[in-house]
Amino acid sequence: MKEGVYRSSDEMIAALRPSYPVYCVRTGALRRVAQEFCAGFLGDVLFAVKCNPAPLVLKALHAGGINHFDTASLPEVALVHELFPDAHLYFNHPIKVRPHIRMAHTVFGVRHYVIDHRSELDKVMQETGGAKDMTILVRMATPAAGAAFHLSAKFGAPPPDCVELLQAVRDVGLKPALSFHVGSQCVNPQAYTIALRVVRDVLHAANVELACLDVGGGFPAAYTGVEIPPLAKFFAEIKKGLKELKLPSSCAILAEPGRALVADGMSLVVQILQRKEERLYINDGVYHSLSETVSGGIRLPPRLIRLDGAPPSNEFADYTLYGPTCDSTDVLPHPYQLPADAREGDWIELGRAGAYSSALVSHFNGFHPETFIEIEE
Ligand SMILES: *Cc1c(COP(=O)(O)O)cnc(C)c1O
Repeated sequence: MKEGVYRSSDEMIAALRPSYPVYCVRTGALRRVAQEFCAGFLGDVLFAVKCNPAPLVLKALHAGGINHFDTASLPEVALVHELFPDAHLYFNHPIKVRPHIRMAHTVFGVRHYVIDHRSELDKVMQETGGAKDMTILVRMATPAAGAAFHLSAKFGAPPPDCVELLQAVRDVGLKPALSFHVGSQCVNPQAYTIALRVVRDVLHAANVELACLDVGGGFPAAYTGVEIPPLAKFFAEIKKGLKELKLPSSCAILAEPGRALVADGMSLVVQILQRKEERLYINDGVYHSLSETVSGGIRLPPRLIRLDGAPPSNEFADYTLYGPTCDSTDVLPHPYQLPADAREGDWIELGRAGAYSSALVSHFNGFHPETFIEIEE
């Protein structure tokens, strides 16, 4: 065993007895999911870095075969480049900061940029000094269809505008490409087929030679209380939808999953600070790793761990979990089932906490979870 690597979260808790939240990164599991995704999807798999940019996580995904990354800012570009100098980077934020474009192009060699408006195309051209070696992905808005987070409310051009944008990209001498995002935690595989049908109409009207088609992210995780179809079902729907497009073999196919690659590979260990009847006050909450319990209604599977005294009761009770800050909105919206005698000092491991958890923490009230521990099962 490498130093600082544990065989299980229990072993980590026994060794550290942490009074601070700990992210348990299961590198083997992350590697396996990456391999499964790369083997099952028929194109290049970009990891959406924003979902979990912890270097331990990025390295595990890279070891699993992922060498393409969806980035949204210069710090993300620099982070990935530093770790994997030969990685393929895509700047997939439709509204970029001007100096970020300049640096991404000249320093980091980024050649793929997303736009969803004519002004962003002009911006990218200005900041790259008229360079012609770029692929411009036009981000298309998609209809809402079965996602917990609808991502076309903020970004994405309506299909008729996409036609014009694709032609504008071609006319300025850059390579036109198309992308969409069906929304995050999308439990309906047909959302992709529906989007690809719109793509077909757009391509028919635009009549441009497409350099690549990016079907986005959105693939779901198996959170408590949701049934999700297997990944293979999503891949099959996408394959079917792509077939109807009759794309030339020169057109690259991309996906940019975040959640589905990392949700299961990291858990969060928190400690109970106090119990008041059926309320448990813990050391992490909605201003830190658990904001998606509110924004997405997401529920994570809990498990109680106790080191001292009699083992926890076999009877269970429903508890409300409160976060550590002074804000009364710092409370998880769903009840959590834990042993009836849960008490101060016990730990709770929340599973499937790899996506949009550590990536979203604030420093509110002086709390700032930042401990990542590798678990090698
Ligand atoms: C957030 C995001 C992703 C990742 O989405 P998941 O739902 O986590 O798979 C991919 N692409 C873009 C453009 C995004 O904004």
